[in-house]
Amino acid sequence: MEIPTPPAALNAPVTHGLAQATDLSAAPAANRFQLPFEALRAQAPVLRAEDAAARCRRLRRLSNWLMSNREAVQQALYADFRKPPAESDLTEIWTSLTGINHAIKNLKTWMRPRPVPAPLSLVGTRSWVQVEAKGVALIIAPWNYPFYLAVEPLASALAAGNCCVVKPSELTPHTAALISRLARELFPKNEVLVVEGDKDVATELLQLPWDHIFFTGSPEVGKIVMRAAAAHLSGLTLELGGKSPAVVDETANLRDAAEKIVWGKFLNAGQTCVAPDYVLAQESVKDELVREMQSVIKRLYNPGGAGIQASDSFARIVNKHHFRRLAGLLEDAQTQGATVVQGGTIVEQDRYIEPTILTDVPATARVLEEEIFGPLLPVLSFGQLPEAVQYINARLRPLAQYFFTQSPDNRRLLLGAIPAGGAAVNEAVLHFAHPELPTGGVGNSGLGKSHGYAGFLAFSNEKGVLRQRVGLTAIKALYPPYTGRVRRLIGLLVKYL
Ligand code: NAD
Repeated sequence: MEIPTPPAALNAPVTHGLAQATDLSAAPAANRFQLPFEALRAQAPVLRAEDAAARCRRLRRLSNWLMSNREAVQQALYADFRKPPAESDLTEIWTSLTGINHAIKNLKTWMRPRPVPAPLSLVGTRSWVQVEAKGVALIIAPWNYPFYLAVEPLASALAAGNCCVVKPSELTPHTAALISRLARELFPKNEVLVVEGDKDVATELLQLPWDHIFFTGSPEVGKIVMRAAAAHLSGLTLELGGKSPAVVDETANLRDAAEKIVWGKFLNAGQTCVAPDYVLAQESVKDELVREMQSVIKRLYNPGGAGIQASDSFARIVNKHHFRRLAGLLEDAQTQGATVVQGGTIVEQDRYIEPTILTDVPATARVLEEEIFGPLLPVLSFGQLPEAVQYINARLRPLAQYFFTQSPDNRRLLLGAIPAGGAAVNEAVLHFAHPELPTGGVGNSGLGKSHGYAGFLAFSNEKGVLRQRVGLTAIKALYPPYTGRVRRLIGLLVKYL
């Protein structure tokens, strides 16, 4: 039998009735990416049909490339925002390799159909969940971990058997160029295509009918991406940001908490989506915690006394716009009466902002309203734990929450009472590096999860399959006509099964 070729506009949205009035889906007459998109779409069934071994070979090419281009990755990140090479190793290369190798190790299991037992009402049937690649995915990456946040979702998309387009951030051009080179060297253009460019390029890409869009970036742009996805009902993962709190109670080991908060906050100069955005310390331990954090900052970034600006362990702010935004937040807080207990030095030519701790910050300060995304750390205090819970829950849902406590009761209370994308107890940021913990936000901080199996599922369709025997089956006893006997059987089903 001949299968007719599907029309090019197979997934084109139907625009009738109400849809016509809003017409979000209307692509411009000539979208520059239409042809490459069609090429990817033509190749998608080939990748979808591949077994785990073939997909693992592709992933292995990726991990080998990373190992042999480690220095190039470090150099690109250093050129973009003076990211210390050791930090690039830790947060961009090692994290990417961990994700890729974890997928290679587990892919066969992830791809295996998962049997689902039949309930009594469906006796005689067999059921399973079969995962299949969604098809063609668009990955839009941010600038703050510009390599890892492009490569990790790419690895998940490839593990799941998708073709993809990756659009790196325009704010880190050296890394974006390197990701383009990676794709050119490793994959045919109809499997993985990297498109460099700014928001205009992203806007044009978003007009196409992707099977899945994986976006990492700000909640504001996330809303734009969601509207674009709605036009084609594309699958969607939104990895967004927000204000992630670190709560330190009176039972915490303060030295330990200070070390972990300082490390998590000032890594990448505070430009980390899951960095502790602010600290909520119990009143009785707040001053000591601040003193401990001051001494940790000195130990990590100024051990020789030459000043933090001279340290080669501390990154710069990515560009002038973000530098001025952060300088504005600091100035606003100080004008409103906040005290700078640590740091506060800013040097525009160098895009340097010193690790800074603020106390006495008034509620109206912008630093308490906006996601900070830089090396400014407000420390607030609370009397009893429910006050901290109330403070956090009165705000938008955090991407991450950090609880420093040695009390199991307090840990249970905090974890149970505050919704957030992810959490770490007596640690900061590290849950993000666990290859098998689902990562993502909730509400304002995101939609869907990534990493490990969750990342594989994000780019897959879980197809629920039921296989019935041929011929006589129990369910046929319930077919019309609805005689008295059939109605009685249906009655029994409703009551007991
Ligand atoms: P951003 O939203 O400004 O940009 C992200 C990407 O979207 C870039 O590739 C950019 O070119 C594109 N873009 C920008 N404007 C667009 C528009 N109008 N239409 C379509 N695309 C557009 O975010 P950013 O400044 O690169 O990153 C910082 C934000 O990302 C922070 O909020 C941070 O918390 C968040 N983030 C989240 C995670 C996570 O895993 N949840 C990770 C890193 C960063």
